[in-house]
Amino acid sequence: MSLQQFRLDGKVALITGGNRGIGLAISQLFLQAGAKVMITGRTPTPEAEALCGDNCAWVQGDVTDPATPDRIVAATVKRFGALDILVNNAGIADNGDFHDFDDARLAAITDTNFIAPFRIARAAVKPMLAAGAGVVLNVGSISAEVANKPQLQVAYNASKAAVHQMTRVMAFEYAGRGIRVNALAPGYVVSDMTKGGIANAAWNKVWTENTPMGRFGQPEEMANCALFLCSPASSYVTGAVLTADGGYTTH
Ligand code: NAP
Repeated sequence: MSLQQFRLDGKVALITGGNRGIGLAISQLFLQAGAKVMITGRTPTPEAEALCGDNCAWVQGDVTDPATPDRIVAATVKRFGALDILVNNAGIADNGDFHDFDDARLAAITDTNFIAPFRIARAAVKPMLAAGAGVVLNVGSISAEVANKPQLQVAYNASKAAVHQMTRVMAFEYAGRGIRVNALAPGYVVSDMTKGGIANAAWNKVWTENTPMGRFGQPEEMANCALFLCSPASSYVTGAVLTADGGYTTH
């Protein structure tokens, strides 16, 4: 037993949406834990640019572009010589009545939150299979398991349910080949995604009252969970969904 097992020294991680929010916190912590990190997203941020250097690089990419997955995986292997860890974190949210949720919005949610993580994991698993080792972490959501309130967001919830089930079945498929696959299911976390809802007094009240801990999560708290799931400390964990929601889904 050693605390070293919670580190990522020498490991190479690709983090989608690593430029802000939860993904940025994961990028920052993984670098502190000794990993080499390739950050990808559509738009570089000052925070992501500040991380770039010997052990961190940026590759631009819209995850909904079918050419992006192979390109960002190749860029990671080219820059750092391997791909040990994929964090499928990029995602978008949208809400509204089911009966009015049009095809364009449905496609945007599905393409970003499910099709893209599927394609990126598919691309990332290839070098992992060649190496006989790897870790995939898919960022799902408590929305995969419950209906949200007061906002209605069936497309988002269904996309995240697909991510959780993809996680379980990928874990089953690759368990014997050295690749672990897990998901992280955050509750309400402070980020650009939730800032509108947090600023909305009515939504804020419902979200807070339904979270037994009585507060929102911080991106850094999600990063701590991600580090566990991507480090050797979780060597016997695969096919799991780690919920980090201040107790939201207990009732
Ligand atoms: P956020 O602050 O809005 O960040 C979203 C990230 O996804 C950004 O880095 C963004 O990059 C990237 N992204 C979105 N669409 C993309 C695209 N088409 N191509 C490339 N990158 C794209 O959200 P967050 O709260 O950190 O969310 C991160 C993940 O956690 C998401 O999967 C989300 O569903 C999940 N989650 C969040 C919460 C929460 O309460 N915040 C709860 C449960 C689950 P750009 O800057 O380039 O747009």
